[in-house]
Amino acid sequence: MESHSLKPAMILRACRTCGKYMELPEGSSQVYCSPECAAAYRQCVVCGKWFLVQSGSDEYCSEECRTPAKPNGIIFDYSDEVLK
Ligand SMILES: [Zn+2]
Ligand SMILES: [Zn+2]
Repeated sequence: MESHSLKPAMILRACRTCGKYMELPEGSSQVYCSPECAAAYRQCVVCGKWFLVQSGSDEYCSEECRTPAKPNGIIFDYSDEVLK
């Protein structure tokens, strides 16, 4: 009896952050090559967009999000998002 099942097929996948190819068992959900790369993507606290963190404590995807919008009378109403 052959023991192929002990060795899962390997695939190559590019790291989502640095683009480096990593060898993973088929079916793996890993998308980052290292913990550093996994921590490099963050969700912008303002617009919710995922962005590549340049410095360790960055919470904003862009300068626009970093700088609070000037009050201009527009008030965002998120009530439509509430599940009834
Ligand atoms: Zn990487
Ligand atoms: Zn943003």
